[in-house]
Amino acid sequence: MPSNPSEIARETLKTLSMRRIAPTPDNYRMIYDEISGTPSDTANTEVERILARIIREATEASPEITKSLDLLEKSLGKRDSKGIESALSSLIKGSKPLDWGNLVRDFLRAWETTSSGWTQARKRDGLETVLNNFGSNPDALHQKLQSLFKSWSSGASQTDLVDEGAEIIAAPAGKKGEVADMLRELLAQSYAAGFTALLQHTPELASEALALSKKARESINAKEIADLAAKLKQFWFKLEIRAGDNAEIQEGLIGLLRLVIENISEIVVDDQYIQGQIDVVKDVISGTLRRSMLDDAERSLKTVIYKQSALKVSINEAKSSLKSMIADFIERLGEFSESTGQYHDKIDMYSQKLSQSDDISQITAILDEVLKETKAIQLDTLRSRDGMLETQGRANAANQRIIELESELENLSEMVREDQLTRTLNRRGMEEAFDKEVSRSERRGLPLCIAVIDIDDFKKLNDTLGHQAGDDALVHLSKTIKETTRPNDIVSRFGGEEFIVILPDSNLDDAAQAITRLQRELTKRIFMHKNQKQVITFSAGVAMREAHESRDTLIGRADQAMYEAKKAGKNRVFAAPPSNAQRKNSNA
Ligand code: GH3
Ligand code: MG
Ligand code: MG
Repeated sequence: MPSNPSEIARETLKTLSMRRIAPTPDNYRMIYDEISGTPSDTANTEVERILARIIREATEASPEITKSLDLLEKSLGKRDSKGIESALSSLIKGSKPLDWGNLVRDFLRAWETTSSGWTQARKRDGLETVLNNFGSNPDALHQKLQSLFKSWSSGASQTDLVDEGAEIIAAPAGKKGEVADMLRELLAQSYAAGFTALLQHTPELASEALALSKKARESINAKEIADLAAKLKQFWFKLEIRAGDNAEIQEGLIGLLRLVIENISEIVVDDQYIQGQIDVVKDVISGTLRRSMLDDAERSLKTVIYKQSALKVSINEAKSSLKSMIADFIERLGEFSESTGQYHDKIDMYSQKLSQSDDISQITAILDEVLKETKAIQLDTLRSRDGMLETQGRANAANQRIIELESELENLSEMVREDQLTRTLNRRGMEEAFDKEVSRSERRGLPLCIAVIDIDDFKKLNDTLGHQAGDDALVHLSKTIKETTRPNDIVSRFGGEEFIVILPDSNLDDAAQAITRLQRELTKRIFMHKNQKQVITFSAGVAMREAHESRDTLIGRADQAMYEAKKAGKNRVFAAPPSNAQRKNSNA
């Protein structure tokens, strides 16, 4: 190495021309220092310091850049200009801008591709996790996004993805657990506070929401979360059905009210007729609203209102024709009794009475009196006698018709679909309710069961304690059935001491369990007769409706199962086996 300044100067000029560097004062000084081996001046030291700081701060760079930075640091330490040059040049090459355009294209493609295991919601979750954790580090973000999109399009299984997600989240340790805990707590609170408040009128669903909230707090691993997800889905399904029911109830109520209001002005003149209708509405709104009761009330009201208006027209016609016939009769009587002046007064009196009366019994009484008078004056002209008899006959027929119509009207008000003793549906009411439940079950694809219940040894109870005790026992049993079954179950008295319960949304096992629960409940609720405990038991058959099965066939199968229960010793619940048709179908 030259030590003499003039030699160094010569060597410097040679080097400048060899390296084809412009001979500016700065370049000259740089090469001079290089050849003489003198330490860099302050400007150089400052550059080194800046470089060293940049290297220190570049902690989260990609592997290639880290490698170049290491080389740069070492070369700076050794003042190895070749090393510095090569490190800087590879740094410039390595730090080429990330290709976000292609990444966005990849993202769109992967987002739109459907692949097993990746729902849109899961994709969104994965994306959010990566954005949250790597959003501030473009290099890492670019790389993680790339591998995320790749996993979407590769259709990796759900478990793989859970693991991959875990790996992605695991990078900045600490944050992941906290966020997951917060989310879990939010979910738990939504179910505990939000749903329970909304579900005040559905205690079963409200307590299910509470249980789910508890489960959300406890679920920590992937399997428990998957289990929770399945439970949440079931819960939402029930909520959906419930919402549907609410809407139907509301519709039913509005229809019902409209019907009453529309007709009230028309029928209010005869208050005894309205009584039956008002009773039904009162019944419906007195307790918890039951869908089936609403349907039933509406149907009954419609029929009653229709029949009543028809009957009222008939009664009014009958009344006025009766009145005109009697008026006619009195007139003739006057003709016959012209000679005897005293009749004129009487006839005037009858005419007046008749014009003032609108009541059938009064009209009938007037008719009786007039007939008595007729006998008294002994009208024996054949023509007039025949005419009188005929008029009398017509009047009687009209009177009879009025009595029939009025009793029919009264019966109608008594709600033809309800059993008067037990206040459950009667057979006709049950049949209508059944048809309605069948279409509901078919529409929703839900199972439908019925149970036939027959009291054991009821004849003996009647014979030993009397018919009234038998009636009381029937009331006791139907009350127990109504209070033990679910609100949507429909209870009806099918005949004497036989009941049918319709159990919507129940499979055979559910239904058999429900009736067994009823059986147990009946042994707890003791029937008292004259301060004596009386044991009542029943035998029951349960059957599930098969596709296209008619009402009668289904009842027949449940009845057969009930009969088997009797044969096996009574006080038991038997499930009906599938029908022959069903068995053939499932074998085929
Ligand atoms: P099993 O255990 O086989 O069913 O015997 P059972 O005595 O209950 O059956 P059976 O069919 O022989 O008798 C039913 C009795 O129920 C006959 C009838 O006197 C009585 N019964 C039917 N309807 C009524 C009712 O409305 N009130 C009362 N008190 N008894 C009734
Ligand atoms: Mg019987
Ligand atoms: Mg019986």
